[in-house]
Amino acid sequence: MTDTVSTARSEDLFAEAQGLMPGGVSSPVRAFKSVSGVPRFIERGEGPYLVDVDGNRYIDYVLSFGPLLLGHAPDAVTQAITEQAAKGTSYGAPSPLEVRLAHQIQDRYPSMERLRFVNSGTEGAMSAVRAARAFTGRNKVVKFDGHYHGHADLLLAKAGSGVATLGLPDSPGVPAAVTADTLVIPFNDEAAVREVFEREGSEIAALLVEPIAGNMGLVRPRDGYLQMLREVTETHGALLVFDEVMVGFRVHPGGAQALYDVTPDLTVLGKVIGGGLPVGAYGGRADVMKLVAPDGPVYQAGTLSGNPLAMAAGLALLGEVDATGAWEAAAEAARTTAEAVQSAADAAGVPVVTDAVGTMFGFFFNDRSLFSFEDVQTSDKAAFSRLHGLLLERRVYLPPSPFEACFTSSAHTPDVVETAAEAFQSAFAAL
Ligand code: PMP
Repeated sequence: MTDTVSTARSEDLFAEAQGLMPGGVSSPVRAFKSVSGVPRFIERGEGPYLVDVDGNRYIDYVLSFGPLLLGHAPDAVTQAITEQAAKGTSYGAPSPLEVRLAHQIQDRYPSMERLRFVNSGTEGAMSAVRAARAFTGRNKVVKFDGHYHGHADLLLAKAGSGVATLGLPDSPGVPAAVTADTLVIPFNDEAAVREVFEREGSEIAALLVEPIAGNMGLVRPRDGYLQMLREVTETHGALLVFDEVMVGFRVHPGGAQALYDVTPDLTVLGKVIGGGLPVGAYGGRADVMKLVAPDGPVYQAGTLSGNPLAMAAGLALLGEVDATGAWEAAAEAARTTAEAVQSAADAAGVPVVTDAVGTMFGFFFNDRSLFSFEDVQTSDKAAFSRLHGLLLERRVYLPPSPFEACFTSSAHTPDVVETAAEAFQSAFAAL
């Protein structure tokens, strides 16, 4: 199981790619900057596995950072994409697929009285803020340290994900004026929320939150925290925006808003709803969304928005989830994998804290539960990096950063998890 993994072809491709693309990649975390070894160049995905160009097959706990709730290339989705491709890949006109997918989403997210499809989570978050600013006539936006809402200028302030991985709290190229209205406070700190709203509440358009944070590792809200956000935003006439791009359909079929029974004014979705194709969506209260063009004056558009391939893939994925209990299977895999990580760490005497919520799990090299980005920083990042390499040798693929959550799919059957569990035992023992 720990026989040497050859990475010769990935190494060649990585060298070539670095002469062509920044860091040799199309998105920063993929470059393996905070772990050791060469990024694996992937040849194909099969169910719970990634297969790289050197022929190594890994159990995949990244799943494209979330979308692949049924695993790689599930028949239902592949067939839907193929059939749709034969009918055209983009119309620049509305199609029945958008209407169907909007219904599917609304059935599970009733707070989304109106919604608009876009091409990424970034676009969704950026557009939701625009609508919130227009609706309230205010400019300020509150976000949390370590939460990631995509790479729109105004939200690139103390962000999570790759920004945290690379230690870039603020990005050059974003004018200070653009983030001047972005107020960043620590997550899970009630006093910080009350204080910022008491000070600037009348100027705050929206508070954006990852209701369960997934871009600084997996960090849950404290009991009652989301309810408190709901109450404070309402009191001050600001909109509460749940960014459920990552956790939507994953922590609960109805997202964090169903899990915690808190109704946001606006919601941002992405990942799962596109079945692995590029997609995003934002929506919420009809009185807010009616400001969006062409109903209202808030401009937002997209050549490929509502793309029929992405709509067909999303519909196929959600249809399969309804028909098969795939969500429950993926959730079971998340729970048992988190248990396997915990028991492997315990057996090796390594302090680790694990958590699983629905079809996601995460762990930190730490001896206590963590609630904020500052907390998360106290975890042992070097240990994560070593474990990551040891697991690759044992053919288990984790996110290449301690600040990303892990994902499971319905293809992660008990025998797959059992194989991963053996790898965890052996990797922690070798730490
Ligand atoms: N919001 C959250 C919570 C995310 O996790 C992400 C991406 N990981 C985004 C927004 C941005 O989505 P995209 O990468 O599709 O632009």
